[in-house]
Formats: sequence, structure tokens, C-alpha cells
Amino acid sequence: MRLSRSFLPTLKETPADAQIASHRLMLRAGLVRQTASGIYTWLPAGLKVLRNIANIVREEQDRVGAQEVLMATIQSAELWKRSGRYDAYGPEMLRIKDRHERELLYGPTNEEVITDVVGQELKSYKELPQILYQIQWKFRDEIRPRFGVMRGREFYMKDGYGFDIDYKSAVDTYRKMMLSYLRTFQRLGVRAVPMVADTGPIGGDLSHEFLILAPTGESGVFYDGALDTLDWLADPVDVDKSEDLEKFFKNVSSYYAATDEKHDEKAWESVPAERRREGRGIEVAHIFYFGTKYTKSMDITVAGPDGTPVHPEMGSYGIGVSRLVGAIIEASHDDAGVIWPDNVAPFKAAILNLKVGDETCDTLCEALYNKAPEQFLYDDRSDRAGAKFADADLMGHPWQIIVGPRGAKEGKVELKRRATGERFELTVDEALVKVL
Ligand code: ATP
Ligand code: MG
Ligand code: MG
Ligand code: MG
Repeated sequence: MRLSRSFLPTLKETPADAQIASHRLMLRAGLVRQTASGIYTWLPAGLKVLRNIANIVREEQDRVGAQEVLMATIQSAELWKRSGRYDAYGPEMLRIKDRHERELLYGPTNEEVITDVVGQELKSYKELPQILYQIQWKFRDEIRPRFGVMRGREFYMKDGYGFDIDYKSAVDTYRKMMLSYLRTFQRLGVRAVPMVADTGPIGGDLSHEFLILAPTGESGVFYDGALDTLDWLADPVDVDKSEDLEKFFKNVSSYYAATDEKHDEKAWESVPAERRREGRGIEVAHIFYFGTKYTKSMDITVAGPDGTPVHPEMGSYGIGVSRLVGAIIEASHDDAGVIWPDNVAPFKAAILNLKVGDETCDTLCEALYNKAPEQFLYDDRSDRAGAKFADADLMGHPWQIIVGPRGAKEGKVELKRRATGERFELTVDEALVKVL
């Protein structure tokens, strides 16, 4: 994209009402604009980031055998009355009436819809397990929307639902999802630590939240410092092998890590004092086993191996895709701006033409840009070099390809790595190899 023609409204001033770095930077780098409290318009660069994240989530869901669907954002209240949650959900649910006075709602989550649709079709245990997911907008009328997209009211979430014939199979599904999530975060270039979370009345150990550690996080966290360097994905896992999944899960669970809601002082004392880490984290994902809660209340059964009807066991699996945009920035920025991890960045590199109008510079930049116009943001504005550097740092492209008249004469560019500040003098071809 050519910067001179693109809609990338960056701000020099710090927006006054933004309390945390990621919110300020998302506004300053021109990623989003608020249209109503907790409701945002995603501008071109922000949308690219949102899509990059969603695509990685999708690929890693598909890789463990989950299947994508797309449910509507609007749901019928009747379904929620059947599950018994309509009244229980409270004021976070946006309730709507249509012209016939029928009660509708904007989905805050989709257990009822998926259980109804899938349950109608499933006949036999032989059709299980099934994992279905979608990436879709949700609405929760948060009492205090804040921190930009981090706690919005309308937000983008991957929600997945597992259906299994029995507990053992449901545990395998749960572990597959945990694996898929850790692979997802690794590719996103962030560390999100799985922590034991509250299971409510269901009990057991099958609820985990994934937290990106950050001082601005809303959850208190307690964890073993050994986790700072543990590679959860060191061993290959065959997702069709229960033993592999079990080994993987044991490894993940081998060190203490809990959110404040689930913190257990006694277990904490068994962590060596010098390894006890207490801090704050951002909940970016949540996986949860809840058994037959919905299949019972909504009366869904399949024929079991001996012919008797069985209520399938379920779990739900959420990733906050739009929250991740803010959370990644919270984990990866400096005073100058965003530092995008490579796989998430809206552009792989900015091309900074330091002397627009100079024929050598222009020709070199055009040639470079045309190699991959969708991957580069070409700063072809006739601004001062300083302004270009500042904008590129603010927008956080992983690389900056700096083209000045002296180097251009020799066919050379300067390549800067945003994360480290390292600089390399390279030929155009060498730079392309590093960047693309
Ligand atoms: P929180 O504790 O932050 O309110 P939650 O526990 O209510 O989140 P879940 O029901 O577990 O959220 O939803 C799955 C994921 O959706 C969360 O882990 C989070 O990443 C994301 N999410 C939830 N609420 C919001 C929101 N208001 N804005 C943006 N993302 C959200
Ligand atoms: Mg909530
Ligand atoms: Mg929560
Ligand atoms: Mg949660």
C-alpha cells in the first residue's frame, strides 16, 4: 500500500481518555476508532491485524480437527429459556424485540445455538466426537467498557464447542484444544500461560484461562517461575493418540499456575520461594469442560453403544481475537510505538523513501515496492525523514527499509529491525530475502 493514498490516520498527540499503552497506540497508529462506548470501527491496518490473528486461530483449529461454522449474531430468547440461562445471564445480555414483539438477543456466547443445531442432527455415538467453532462478533453490555478493544462491548471471539460420548473422550477434546491454543499463541508471537481457572459448580481441573502477563492485566496471577522458560510444545503430539495428549497435558500442568480466583495458598507454599511469581495478566482465552449441562437442560441425546440414549458431554473453547490485538501490543511496544510480531503485523515492512523526487531514490523504491505491494507500506509522502521514522516506529512494522540518495546510488538500502533497533547495510536483493 502507498502511504500517500492510504487511510492510515495516525495521531501525534496522546489521546487523553486512553489509560493504557495499547489503547493509546491503537488510536495513535490508526488501527481503530470508537463509534460508541465499547464499540469500534476497524480501520484498514487494524483490520489486517485482526484478520492475521483470526487466520492463525483458524489454521490451528483446523489442524486439530475442529470444523468451522458461522452462527448468526442474533439469537432467539426461546433457546436461552430452554437452557434456563435467559434470566440468569443478567444485564450483560443485550435484549432486543422485533416488530412482532418476539424476544431476541445479540449473542454473548453460543452454547445454546450450537447445542440446539448439532443436537438435532446427531443420532448415534458413532458420529462423535465433534468439535465445531466459529469466529464471530459477540456483544456483552459490559458495565465498564475500557482499555479500548480489550474490554469492548462488541468484540470478536473464536468460540468452539466439543461434543463427546463420555468423560474420557471429552478430556481428549479438552487437551486437543489446549494444544491448539498453545500452538496459536506461539505463532502469534506472544506467551500466554495456561492457568487453572474456576470451574464453578462443575468442579474438576478442566478449566484453564490463558494469560498474557502484563502489569495492566485485570486478573491477579500466581505462577511458578519455571514456566517463564518452559516450552510446552517441545515434544511432538499426535492428536489422535490419547497417550500423547495425556503426556502433553501433564507437562503443562506440572508447575503451579493459577488466577486469583483459583489461587490455593497451600499448594503455593510447595513452590520454592525464589520461583514464586505474583503479578497480573490479561485473559486472552478460556477453555472449559462442563459435561452434560446443556445437553441435559436442552434434552439432547444420542444412541449409546448399547442403544440407550446418552447426553453428550460438552466443553467450550474461547479465544478473544479482538482483545488479542490490544494484548499483543500491551506485551510488545516501547515508547516510540507498537512492535508487531512478524505473523501479526499489518505490513512486513515500511519502505521509507527519504528523498521523494530524487530519481534514484524513487526508482529504487518503486522497484522494491512492486516486488510485494500488499506486504509493504511504501512511505512515498514528501515529508521530513524524521516524520517518516516516527510514523514507522509508531506503526510498528517488523522491518523498515530506509532508502536515501547516497546508498541508492550504489543500489544499497538500510534495513532496520524494529524490535531490536539493529541496522544492516544491504543490497536490495539481500534486504528482500531478510524481509519477505
Ligand atoms: P473477562 O473475565 O475478561 O470478563 P470472560 O471470562 O467473561 O472475560 P469468556 O466468557 O471466558 O470471557 O470469553 C472468552 C474470551 O473472550 C475471553 O477469554 C476474552 O479473551 C474474550 N472476551 C471476553 N469479554 C470480552 C470483552 N468484553 N471484550 C473483548 N474480549 C472479551
Ligand atoms: Mg466477562
Ligand atoms: Mg474471565
Ligand atoms: Mg473467561
